[in-house]
Amino acid sequence: MLEQLGATYEAVIGLEVHCQLSTDAKLFSRASAQFGAPANTQVAPVDMGLPGTLPVLNRRAVEFAMRAGLALNADIRHRSRFARKNYFYPDLPKGYQITQYAVPLCETGHLEVAPESGDSRRVGIDHIHLEEDAGKSQHLEGRSDSLVDLNRCGVPLIEIVSDPDLRTPAEARAYMKKLRDIVVYLGVSDGNLSEGSMRCDANVSVRPTGDEEFGTRTELKNINSFKFVRDGLAREIERQIATLEDGGEVEQQTRLYDPDADETRAMRTKEESHDYRYFPDPDLPPLVIDDEWIESVRQSLPELRHEKRARYRETLALGDDEAGVLTARRPRAQFFESVLDHYEGSPDHVANWIINELLRVLNDFDEAIEVETLTAPAFAEMIEMVDEERISQNAGKDVLAEMVETGDAPETIVEREGLEQVSDESEIEGIIEDILDDHPEQVEEYRGGKDQVLGWFIGQVMQATQGKANPKVARELLTDKLEA
Ligand code: ADP
Ligand code: MG
Repeated sequence: MLEQLGATYEAVIGLEVHCQLSTDAKLFSRASAQFGAPANTQVAPVDMGLPGTLPVLNRRAVEFAMRAGLALNADIRHRSRFARKNYFYPDLPKGYQITQYAVPLCETGHLEVAPESGDSRRVGIDHIHLEEDAGKSQHLEGRSDSLVDLNRCGVPLIEIVSDPDLRTPAEARAYMKKLRDIVVYLGVSDGNLSEGSMRCDANVSVRPTGDEEFGTRTELKNINSFKFVRDGLAREIERQIATLEDGGEVEQQTRLYDPDADETRAMRTKEESHDYRYFPDPDLPPLVIDDEWIESVRQSLPELRHEKRARYRETLALGDDEAGVLTARRPRAQFFESVLDHYEGSPDHVANWIINELLRVLNDFDEAIEVETLTAPAFAEMIEMVDEERISQNAGKDVLAEMVETGDAPETIVEREGLEQVSDESEIEGIIEDILDDHPEQVEEYRGGKDQVLGWFIGQVMQATQGKANPKVARELLTDKLEA
């Protein structure tokens, strides 16, 4: 492990993260960019590079890339360019991919990253560029040929390229997770790793601790999970250290992490950029962006997850874990905030009801909000009924389940189900007197010093009232009478 050898070696890591932008159309055509359609049903002529077709840039994709750039503290270039990256592969019918190369849209940003344990670190973002995705080759079992699906050809991506500032696999994982949170909150990507909307290439080298110079790096291609980025890097760092310890040299390579074998394997020697014969795409004019557009995008940025989480901690006095759960999904955080708008009381009551009850009642909270059975004002009203002891905590849970089920108002449910708590002293007093009269033995026991009997009496009161007596009032009245 790196930790064991940490005294002598240090890892240097830089990530290239690809995010698919959630625009309706592709980057240079009007074909749909949606995931999951039957093969080759979403392909415009320009996506295949048919002669006589020309690309037309999708304005919304540019805006999405700008949003990401601004959220990552990057500068937006007033003038950037698209280039052709030439290579031959069956899933790339044009023979080149349109990408931004020498002059990308966003440059020099940064992101603060805090792994679960350890100090936080500022990671530089070298640049963010826009590019189109390639198609997908399918190698099916039992067939000697391969099939090609061009639906993904031309789907818009941004590639976020970090500086080599990360030092541990845990930091790399935290960085990737934070990027995911950011693009999802921004609404520019669904951040779905399992569907390939987000994936990364991880560059890593090792060097003797204290050295200034970087070692030779390898690149782990196409990592599609947070676990794999951490584990793949850990294995690759171990391999590089072992190679050096054996007196060997690390070869500059493109490698793959195989999670089943939990090891990395060489794929090919790394290509150099001149292999791609980049040149400016003559079909596309320079992308020109004025200050006004940049400013309007900047104004439209939402509060991001880490900002919300910090605000919940600092101004709402929630714990970090609670703040983390509430902000994990943006609709969840929005629901929490609109409940607070209708609620007079402590924010942590609302937090508790959402985290401990609502999330349990609903399997998929984010969907349920769209079901519209549960409105923020109604949820706030139910919590206030519990706060004011009009209904018990348990009755509140029943009311909540019923609200989700039927969409009825809490007041309606409480009346219909007779859930109102009895706090009226004279009513409870009468019940208590009957119970004490019926159980003289227990009264004696209590008076003889057996305090536990009080709990038994409270149980009797609850039973007699079908759980509706306010237990606090019952307890007070019982103690008064028993000690009279
Ligand atoms: P290329 O032109 O081969 O794509 P870049 O200079 O663009 O290389 O770097 C690609 C990624 O590799 C960046 O995220 C960068 O931070 C990272 N990187 C560069 N050099 C090293 C190194 N020696 N060790 C680890 N990561 C590195
Ligand atoms: Mg690069």
